[in-house]
Amino acid sequence: MPKRVIVIGSGIIGASIAYHLAKGGAEVTVLEAGETGGVATRASWAWINASWGNPESYFRLRIRSIAQWHTLQKDVPALAVDWCGGLIWDLPANELDAYAAERAKWGHPLTPVSRAEILALEPNLTTVPERAYRAPGEGMLEPLATARVLLDAARALGADVLAETPVKWLAEEHGRVVGVMTDVGVIHADETVIAAGAQTAKLLDSVGLSLAMSAPAGLLSHSKPAPRLLNGLVMTPGLHIRQTAEGRIVAGTDFAGADPEGNAEGLAADLQAKVAAMVRGAEGLGLDFHTVGYRPTPADGFPAIGRPNRKNGLYVAVTHSGVTLAPALGLFAAQELLAGTRDPLLATFSPDRSGLA
Ligand SMILES: Cc1cc2nc3c(=O)[nH]c(=O)nc-3n(C[C@H](O)[C@H](O)[C@H](O)COP(=O)(O)OP(=O)(O)OC[C@H]3O[C@@H](n4cnc5c(N)ncnc54)[C@H](O)[C@@H]3O)c2cc1C
Repeated sequence: MPKRVIVIGSGIIGASIAYHLAKGGAEVTVLEAGETGGVATRASWAWINASWGNPESYFRLRIRSIAQWHTLQKDVPALAVDWCGGLIWDLPANELDAYAAERAKWGHPLTPVSRAEILALEPNLTTVPERAYRAPGEGMLEPLATARVLLDAARALGADVLAETPVKWLAEEHGRVVGVMTDVGVIHADETVIAAGAQTAKLLDSVGLSLAMSAPAGLLSHSKPAPRLLNGLVMTPGLHIRQTAEGRIVAGTDFAGADPEGNAEGLAADLQAKVAAMVRGAEGLGLDFHTVGYRPTPADGFPAIGRPNRKNGLYVAVTHSGVTLAPALGLFAAQELLAGTRDPLLATFSPDRSGLA
């Protein structure tokens, strides 16, 4: 008998878990409170990276997930990832060099680039430094479309994906989670996966478990579409920019966006003005819209993935950087739920670790 698994949430994390579970032979039902494709996911800058300031265990998980994106693209040809690489000069020179040295030590060097090389890569940039680094293995994607492609791939393997179906609480019997309560009653399952982004702690609370997390706000501006002006991801001090598949330049004070603090229109207009000053050809583009997203973030900033409190029938997967991490977390969750094996790369990312539970 295949395992029946409910996945709560159809953002990029739930979609990847659903796909990997269905591929592993599970009978999967995705329950989504709203439209499919996620909440944080659709507001993401969607940079696939193994960027700076992280401990080695987290860096290794991110590198593994980048590799799993490539595997996924072979399995699901409709997935469109642009492996454009990133140009980085958003840190003071000494920190940038320290980051490059750390990456080299860990076997994934960055490429130093001169001003001339930066301009060869991005001829439309107006203000560039004497030197920067390039991260060749980085990429970007369109996050909502990507989550939906993964959901379609899960469907093709037999998964049910139900939109507008909020889970009210987790259903528990004799200390085991046996499914979920919805508007149409209890839906039973052998395993229930919470991939509900910022709503994760609320669902855990329904069975008396806690997870310390926050959901910081981040605003991104989207220009009107333009012909190709940028070739890759550009990370400069106070301005991260990339151009989407449909030609919009998406900008944040950094990839995560700043808290608009009540002045979203003002912040979006400022960002668009910076884009116009930075990118030749973007002067007359104008702002089309802005988004404010909320990044689901466990309290210590790292992913929380596994069985909370060893609760039978329950699994949780919540993280920021979910666009980068979705492939690995999806694969590892499916392996743990279906074969009982926990990937060693998850060793430090239990939801029960100190400070979270
Ligand atoms: C501004 C911004 C920039 C970012 N930039 C990057 C980046 O450059 N690179 C990167 O890797 N990551 C980035 N992130 C983070 C990344 O987008 C998130 O980590 C990721 O989208 C989280 O996906 P998720 O599926 O966990 O959450 P979500 O996309 O929020 O999906 C959770 C889903 O669960 C559903 N749900 C919640 N409660 C229930 C319920 N009770 N019943 C049924 N369904 C429910 C919600 O409706 C939602 O659809 C960024 C995020 C933001 C906001």
